[in-house]
Amino acid sequence: MPITYDAIIIGTGQAGPSLAGRLSAAGLKTAIVERKLFGGTCVNTGCIPTKAMVASAYAVHLARRAADFGFSTGPVAVDMAAVKARKDKISGSSNTSVERWLRGMENCTVYQGHAAFESPHEVRVNGETLTAPKIFINVGGRAVKPPLAGIDQIAYLNNSSILQLDVLPRHLIVVGGSYIGLEFGQMFRRFGSEVTIIEMGPRLVGREDEDVSDSVKSILENEGIQIHLDAECISFEKRDGEILAGVTCARKLPEISGSHVLIATGRRPNTDDLGLDKAGVAVDHRGNIQIDDQLRTNVPGIWALGDCNGKGGFTHTSYNDFEIAAANILDHDPRRVSDRIPCYALYIDPPLGRVGMTESEVRKSGKKALIGKRTMARVGRAIEKGETQGFMKVLVDAETRHILGASILGTGGDEAIHCILDVMYAKQPYTLIQRAVHIHPTVSELIPTMLADLHPIE
Ligand SMILES: Cc1cc2nc3c(=O)[nH]c(=O)nc-3n(C[C@H](O)[C@H](O)[C@H](O)COP(=O)(O)OP(=O)(O)OC[C@H]3O[C@@H](n4cnc5c(N)ncnc54)[C@H](O)[C@@H]3O)c2cc1C
Repeated sequence: MPITYDAIIIGTGQAGPSLAGRLSAAGLKTAIVERKLFGGTCVNTGCIPTKAMVASAYAVHLARRAADFGFSTGPVAVDMAAVKARKDKISGSSNTSVERWLRGMENCTVYQGHAAFESPHEVRVNGETLTAPKIFINVGGRAVKPPLAGIDQIAYLNNSSILQLDVLPRHLIVVGGSYIGLEFGQMFRRFGSEVTIIEMGPRLVGREDEDVSDSVKSILENEGIQIHLDAECISFEKRDGEILAGVTCARKLPEISGSHVLIATGRRPNTDDLGLDKAGVAVDHRGNIQIDDQLRTNVPGIWALGDCNGKGGFTHTSYNDFEIAAANILDHDPRRVSDRIPCYALYIDPPLGRVGMTESEVRKSGKKALIGKRTMARVGRAIEKGETQGFMKVLVDAETRHILGASILGTGGDEAIHCILDVMYAKQPYTLIQRAVHIHPTVSELIPTMLADLHPIE
């Protein structure tokens, strides 16, 4: 006999646990299923451990720059086991608190095991069948293994296994010059590894504007990271205990000789082993579950939240999916995915804070637009901190005066971008920021100055 619930949640990522909290508090008998680590990617193998290690790498970087700030240290030595232990403590404490929270939740039963659909309203876990009229899928994604020549001959790392290293790679080869690859690349360079980044496309972070890509490349090269763009054919070979990576189809030089390889070429949703066919849930060609603006799948009573629906790809978007689902189901508040303004950060140092459209998207849209740009070398706070790399840029609709998008690549960029984001959510014109008095000295105080200098995009 199936065990009957009012709601079943599959996955304890960034949406599932909070949704379990709301549903069970509203009196719904809820089951939540986790097959691996409570808290999912962000907590265990994504944001939290990586940002803990980015912080260690930043401290090492500053220590090496001691003379710039008027002090001296002995030689800076990195203890990777200690860096890992710090990261494990931070990440482990989040993981434990998610599990403790769920296990102590009234009206909620936790199952540990792999869940798969048996039918539109039945899910099988550990040999038991659970049934509910409402089922929420929050299964996240995993790193892809690209079909590169020789990849099976080498022991390569992904975003999960690299976090288990407690020794420093002599030479880390990173395949993939996008968000995850760049964060790991810079961090390991700062810990003391030689680092080479191989990117198939013509520039790093290809989704960003060209000026952002170029500036990110200079920042990384300034720290001694080797970068190979346009790597048309990437191949691997093991020779004398080393890993050789080829970057041209003709296997001509340069060949890169490294000790470790990180594959960071993208992620795919965990939807291929979920029995979605038995439930009749539709996915797109990438395996993303197809949803409407309120996260409903094509099957009544089944919702998909977080990375597995392909609409976000971030912790904050998955959490927002929880808010949308809870608002619609429990609060009669018709919140929508399309209410969301795209925003995210790239956590190299200095970070890139991004919101809305890129300059290239604005140009393609054909909108009449204004642009403002200011180098970080002219931002007082950046000069005082000795961190003047990067720039800030804003795009404004010339007719409505509403902000279309912005990028802040520079110290504090991940925080300062929020003053632009909030005005966009408030649906107010950019002139509102101009009249606001910002605190001195901050990076944010230069945003009104940049806005005073807008000119039409050509
Ligand atoms: C290296 C790295 C760094 C990142 N940094 C950032 C960052 O700085 N900021 C940011 O916003 N985002 C970041 N992200 C992305 C972020 O981690 C994800 O977008 C976020 O975790 C997605 O959450 P989710 O709720 O979709 O699912 P996930 O957090 O992926 O959780 C899904 C859970 O479902 C479980 N599961 C899967 N299938 C089943 C099944 N069949 N049965 C039972 N359980 C199952 C999994 O074990 C997992 O615990 C990063 C990602 C990576 C890889």
